[in-house]
Amino acid sequence: MTQLATMTMMAGTTADGHYANGLANGDKKSVNKFYETVNDSEDTLNNNNYEGKSRLNSKKSDQSEYDRRGGDSATSDEKDYIYFGIKFKQPLKVVNAISIIGFHLVSLYAFVLNFRSPHFLTVLWAFLVGGIGGFGVTAGAHRLWSHRSYKAKTPLRVLLALCFSVAGQNTLYDWTRDHRVHHKFSETDADPHNSNRGFFFAHVGWLMMRKHPDVIRKGNQVDMSDILADPVVQWHQKYFVTLKLLLCFLIPTAVPIYFWNEEWLISIFTLSFIRYVFALNFTWLVNSAAHMWGNRPFDRKINPAENLSVSIVSMGEGWHNYHHTFPWDYKAAEIGDFRYNLTTTFLNLFAKIGWAYDLKEPSKELIRKTIERHGDGSHSKHGERCMPDEVPMEADENSNLIE
Ligand SMILES: [Zn+2]
Ligand SMILES: [Zn+2]
Repeated sequence: MTQLATMTMMAGTTADGHYANGLANGDKKSVNKFYETVNDSEDTLNNNNYEGKSRLNSKKSDQSEYDRRGGDSATSDEKDYIYFGIKFKQPLKVVNAISIIGFHLVSLYAFVLNFRSPHFLTVLWAFLVGGIGGFGVTAGAHRLWSHRSYKAKTPLRVLLALCFSVAGQNTLYDWTRDHRVHHKFSETDADPHNSNRGFFFAHVGWLMMRKHPDVIRKGNQVDMSDILADPVVQWHQKYFVTLKLLLCFLIPTAVPIYFWNEEWLISIFTLSFIRYVFALNFTWLVNSAAHMWGNRPFDRKINPAENLSVSIVSMGEGWHNYHHTFPWDYKAAEIGDFRYNLTTTFLNLFAKIGWAYDLKEPSKELIRKTIERHGDGSHSKHGERCMPDEVPMEADENSNLIE
């Protein structure tokens, strides 16, 4: 099975200091072992990684990679790569590009041209599987592992890792690293899916080509020690391929065939292609659409925006202007509404049984001040009280809103 590289959304302005839990000395051995596993699996799987087999524990090999590609001077960035007469800034990842396009073409064919009506239970099941995978991405890879916006007991972390496998994205390690880099260097060349390079690049194009040298260079500054030290992440890494095959493709496809005698071809099309491709695109929209279209009530100077449509399809991840302003809020939004932030609703339920705890949120006062000082005036409660023109932004230029 080809490896559809992961996607990512965000990583935090505050990444370094807040994410690092530090490693106990006794953990170092297992962490080193994990590094090896990470390297092996990435090379084997042609994963979406920081090119060049470099890896985070090997600055030397990073440097070698840069040297091979012309060093880290401007020349390596300026070189063009030509495929089919089209110029690209980085070399294409041909296997990734073919697999992504292939999945989309088969899904399109099944959805539009050759889709014999599936059993209604198959459709319901596809939505359920999509939601389970989505929850693994939003509550797990994003809000827990990338941002540490709450803590989770082991049963919840295992559940989230399993749900994340249902989504069929990259390894937790790769996802989290890309996302932290995204937040820390948003809309620069060091952002893995820099939205200034256009909708297509931010949405999916970045998964089809090698990373910009700045992503590797600056990405190495991001602390990943807490991820490497998490035994659940280590376990997920070890069984990544098996879990992905079983939980993203085989079991979801087998259930309709086994339990309500769905035609096997319809089940494959519905679960392994259409559901999968829709779910991928819902995640990707956070990186593309939510970085382009919508209001900016919390910080008018950044690209991420509040986008209702993206929030609905991504289970609450489209409140992106807020999220990039307060990346450590477990709600990833000012609101925790059932309709537009399904992930938060479920996290609140897990908090009730004690599996999720230490849920982080900014105070209402901090949010209000942020809106008044930095927003674009579009906030329904506070925006009109202090329009941007009235705000002496210069005075706030150095204020640190991120605690
Ligand atoms: Zn984020
Ligand atoms: Zn973002």
